[in-house]
Amino acid sequence: MLLSANGKLMNPLDDLFEFLRFPSVSADSRFNSDVDACAAWLTTRLQKIGLEARKYPTPGHPVVVARNEWQSGRKTVLIYGHYDVQPPDPLDLWDSPPFEPVVKADKVFARGATDNKGQILAHILGIESTLKERGDLPVNLIVLVEGEEEIGSPNLEAFLKEHRSALQADVAAVSDTGMVAPGIPTFTYGLRGILCMEVRLRGPAADLHSGIFGGSVTNPATVLSRIVAKLHDDSGRVAIPGFYDRVVSLEGWERDLWSKLPFTEASWLATTGSPRLSGEHGYTFLERVWARPTAEVNGFGSGYQGEGPKTIVPSKARAKLSFRLVPNQDPSELRPVIAEFLKQQCPDSVELEIVYQQEGRPYLVKPDSAFGKAAQKALSKTFTQPVAFIREGGSVPITQSFKDVFGIDTLFLGLALPDCKVHSPNENFAVENFYGGIRLNRHLLDQIAET
Ligand SMILES: [Zn+2]
Repeated sequence: MLLSANGKLMNPLDDLFEFLRFPSVSADSRFNSDVDACAAWLTTRLQKIGLEARKYPTPGHPVVVARNEWQSGRKTVLIYGHYDVQPPDPLDLWDSPPFEPVVKADKVFARGATDNKGQILAHILGIESTLKERGDLPVNLIVLVEGEEEIGSPNLEAFLKEHRSALQADVAAVSDTGMVAPGIPTFTYGLRGILCMEVRLRGPAADLHSGIFGGSVTNPATVLSRIVAKLHDDSGRVAIPGFYDRVVSLEGWERDLWSKLPFTEASWLATTGSPRLSGEHGYTFLERVWARPTAEVNGFGSGYQGEGPKTIVPSKARAKLSFRLVPNQDPSELRPVIAEFLKQQCPDSVELEIVYQQEGRPYLVKPDSAFGKAAQKALSKTFTQPVAFIREGGSVPITQSFKDVFGIDTLFLGLALPDCKVHSPNENFAVENFYGGIRLNRHLLDQIAET
């Protein structure tokens, strides 16, 4: 419990509920005023705890930045989070309305409960409790909460560059990743990168009668199928020459630790609903997801898709491809490598076009660095069990911006549980983890101050 300004006991959950009631959906312009109102609420909340806070406009949604009074000689910590949320659809699959938070079975249910309002607010309330108790923080602090994470942070890097000197920190901390199981503190030290593209093939100028013309021209759907089929060899490896050149091998200690984590093939299989797990030979399913690169077909289309037959040679075919990358693969280096492979597979009887759509570099922080160790100490003081060391298969491109603009590492101290349903109906955040996050922030700032 915390004291409010008028000395009354306040329940931190009341704050969380207020925060969650804003439908701050960044992807849908119908919610623009709600996104802005949420940023305003957050700015006021940060001011109330004694920080200097401001809402900065961007070409998109505002960025909220707060800081304490800086003193020389102290470490500077940047705590990053986002107040925007995913669209709540499909609404009919929610057991309670997504923007009317409720507690059931010790979990808060609402859109944004875990991703990321619950996690960032836990940090903010942790800061508040330290300030109330000690009158000061052990570090120079920047809290940066953006409103466009769920749409790829299109304006954040420019914002960081514009405010580079005011935002320069020694380390960044983010709670937007997972815990392997309830009560097990989890330090995520690696993330995969990503490279997305659409491959477009054009054959005849228009769909042709397959009786009159079939056999005399190349069918782009056939060519694209062959290309896609050649992306992998029989052992599940990506067959593009040069694709693995910069891949950093898994180390023995990682394989060892991961084999002891509470993940089983059976539970992974149940989560996926797939008949059987598969992938690159020689690696466990966790190793394949966390530390090995992939090539995936995300979408594939050509020709007639309606009911009944339609005998044509289609004019066009297209596939959406994404490559998840691992340290030290670089998407800009791989673009021409992949393009060359696609060109070589493509006969000159069709035209090939490649449209690049999204990319982000992979991330790896040394777990035994001074800040890495500080994060682990904070985690083990907050939760009673030993810290689990994981990587994750997803991508958080903002980490790269922190590295590029400020030259700093990012510490991931996840509070999301495996069944928290982020981005899905009935998103939830364990109340225990909300309070855990408040304690975690205190320990984190203390530990970083001691590095
Ligand atoms: Zn998200």
